[in-house]
Amino acid sequence: MAEVTEQQILDALRQVRDPEKGADIVSLGMVSGMVIRQGNVGFAIEVEPERGPRLEPLRKAAEQAVEILPGVLSVTAVLTAEAKSAPRPAAQPAHAHGNGQQRNPMQQRGAVPGVRTIVAVASGKGGVGKSTTATNLALGLQANGLKVGVLDADIYGPSMPRMLGVTGRPSSPDGKKLTPMQSYGLKVMSMGFLVPEDTPMIWRGPMVMSALQQMLREVDWGELDVMVVDLPPGTGDAQLTMAQQVPLAGAVIVSTPQDIALIDARKGLNMFTKVDVPVLGIIENMSYFLCPHCGERSDIFSHGGARREAERLGVEFLGEVPLDIAIRETSDEGRPITATNPASPYAEIFRRVAARVWEKVTGESALRTPPHIVVE
Ligand code: ADP
Repeated sequence: MAEVTEQQILDALRQVRDPEKGADIVSLGMVSGMVIRQGNVGFAIEVEPERGPRLEPLRKAAEQAVEILPGVLSVTAVLTAEAKSAPRPAAQPAHAHGNGQQRNPMQQRGAVPGVRTIVAVASGKGGVGKSTTATNLALGLQANGLKVGVLDADIYGPSMPRMLGVTGRPSSPDGKKLTPMQSYGLKVMSMGFLVPEDTPMIWRGPMVMSALQQMLREVDWGELDVMVVDLPPGTGDAQLTMAQQVPLAGAVIVSTPQDIALIDARKGLNMFTKVDVPVLGIIENMSYFLCPHCGERSDIFSHGGARREAERLGVEFLGEVPLDIAIRETSDEGRPITATNPASPYAEIFRRVAARVWEKVTGESALRTPPHIVVE
């Protein structure tokens, strides 16, 4: 069957009228960011923020108008409130290497009410354990007595439902804000909760931005000491734009020993310094192998690459996490090790890194009394 064309979709959308404006949504210029990928269609309908909550029927009608076209397999329409871009004030000093400097994101424009500080976890490429690290870092922060949320900003490949073993859809008691999901005491929001797993991730550009903004600002995060944002892998423009959308207090870069040499770590750093976000440090993941039987340590990947690279770049080396089947299994089964085996040396590593990260973003070193968490 021939691929449906943008023109056909626009023609179909001309049948959908904005009830409050009395004209169709195409003539009103409300449709943007259209993507067509093998019969899967996505687009955004731009509306004024205050109208968003009452325009769900319009969004549905738009999807239905396109669904019936021949050659269309799926349709995803999202309402986007025209992002009022909130550039960082130019006068703000760049704490490129943030050696414990204080920085209060609540003073920045675009801060998320109730959320004291936001830290991103980034990587040069996929598969280095970024999401595993983000999850365990969040749990380490929590184990240190903090109230923690996790925002999975990987719109195309969300990992948090799997990492934290949580499924289902967030509810919205007031019809305006979503209640985040909860797992191991963390509040969690991920595209994986909003879009069924088999839905192709065809969102692009403006749609991704609005999804991120919605997960950040249209979720009832409550009071959080820290939000950990799992960024999509890579250090390209897409990641840069995302980093710009979130009022980040700092970023942690995860790398494996062999990848640090391959990725241009400098690029990762540049990405954050460009948007005036301090790089808090580098974590080397899958750093060495600790034999589960004899406890002997083998440096299978010329371990230490990240530490040397961090030194060379003048960035703090935050720690090394070994390659261990226990980390892989717990991570992939949604039973993150820092929560499920707090007595393990790995949990200890993540709590230590978490303490240092917290110290760097807030200047506070004292850990609060850890809450008593019962893990079943
Ligand atoms: P990314 O977010 O960088 O794509 P993930 O966190 O999804 O990476 O990890 C990729 C795979 O590697 C997963 O199967 C995960 O369980 C595994 N993994 C991550 N860190 C470790 C580790 N330290 N030891 C063993 N396996 C790991």
